[in-house]
Amino acid sequence: MDQWEELGNNIYSHRYEALNQNIGLIVGSEEAIVIDTRGHHAHADELRRDIAKLTSVPVTTVVNTHMHWDHTFGNARFPEARIVGHVRCRSTLLDFGPEMRDTVAAQLPPEWGDHVAAVEIVPPEVTFEESMTLTLDDRQIRLAYLGRAHTDNDISLLIDDVVMAGDLIEEGAPPAFGSSFPSEWPVTLADLLEEPAAVWLPGHGRVVGRAFVESQAADLGTVAAVLADMKSSGRTEVPPGPFQREVMELAWMRFEAD
Ligand SMILES: [Zn+2]
Repeated sequence: MDQWEELGNNIYSHRYEALNQNIGLIVGSEEAIVIDTRGHHAHADELRRDIAKLTSVPVTTVVNTHMHWDHTFGNARFPEARIVGHVRCRSTLLDFGPEMRDTVAAQLPPEWGDHVAAVEIVPPEVTFEESMTLTLDDRQIRLAYLGRAHTDNDISLLIDDVVMAGDLIEEGAPPAFGSSFPSEWPVTLADLLEEPAAVWLPGHGRVVGRAFVESQAADLGTVAAVLADMKSSGRTEVPPGPFQREVMELAWMRFEAD
């Protein structure tokens, strides 16, 4: 942790102790692309210092994997870059960003919450609905939205043998269901697994391989089946599933709301 890890040719990730979070970086001969910007300006400034340790080329593009605060609230600290994200990443930040900022700031301890409360929210200005390709030197970087899952605006970044999947996958903690679509998540992740990539970067936790992603997709499928069974049998008590009770209850709440 706390250093850049090379995932492929000029493809890096940096895991931060705060939230056990991963930031991606792809470095070209004259410019770089950063994937997610962390949860407040001071953390984004730390990210910029870490990028400067690795390369002197400027960051010209920021990709937001989804609208959650810990992935987008550092955007304002990359004023020279174009910010790219799903069309609903933009609209959600515009419509609900201030509310998310206030809620998160109130929940965090003050030394952290005060930073979040002061964030200037900058949504992606370059958006797409299904897919988009970025070019870096002679390399193609694919951005893909495959359906609702952890949120309704998760995108994955694909380059060479690497998938940067944002919070579509999570290592070291259960998947986060708070904004999720539990019945669609396993379907979306199964679609992403059609990619033959070997190296997978979760939004949080260690870099993983295909086997981990397949296992998490299976667990998400079990959650969806358990919840569907609950609904069809009219039960309200959440039965044991692959994740702890609070996680299953949150998934059920989201399943019911959808
Ligand atoms: Zn998230």
